[in-house]
Amino acid sequence: MSAKQFFNDLHQKFNDQVVHLNALDAAIGDGDHGATMLRGLSKAVAAEDAKRAKAFMRASGGASGTLFGLILIAIEGHLDTGTPLGSSLVTACARICDLGDVQVGDKSMIDALAPAVVALEHGDLSQAITAAAVGRDSTVALVARRGRAQYVEDGGKGHIDPGAVSVVIFLETLAETLSATSSDEKGMA
Ligand SMILES: [Mg+2]
Repeated sequence: MSAKQFFNDLHQKFNDQVVHLNALDAAIGDGDHGATMLRGLSKAVAAEDAKRAKAFMRASGGASGTLFGLILIAIEGHLDTGTPLGSSLVTACARICDLGDVQVGDKSMIDALAPAVVALEHGDLSQAITAAAVGRDSTVALVARRGRAQYVEDGGKGHIDPGAVSVVIFLETLAETLSATSSDEKGMA
């Protein structure tokens, strides 16, 4: 299995949702979240195998490019070399919290990622997606303690965090790629 299909699928998803994600970000930030992710993913799909997540990181740029890139490195390693997804995402989540100086409740990508990582330790990817979606939706009521959102009215309360939305898209796309790949392999058997 290769991460190539995953990055192609993810690029398509963000291409479809770029305007929506920019609009979510415009409510609490600078309105570029979708464009930033898409710029990184365009480079990832054009990169060589095993270098796609790092290509994303460089091309999307800035702090968020690095933080989302850490999740993509974990997924790429899992798909390309079979690295266990759960432990890789535990490491990625810890590094994001450290580098971003962010924790659960700050209204960020971590509100989706952290519960997904916990669910994955005790269950499967579909349970992780459910947990991530609950965490994503919880960001609507949260007051931001990090990023530009903390400076907008009420710390962005009432608006969903676009980074948390993207985390759920990552995990949903991974599940779709895995199920499409396994049905292809069954078809060939
Ligand atoms: Mg932004």
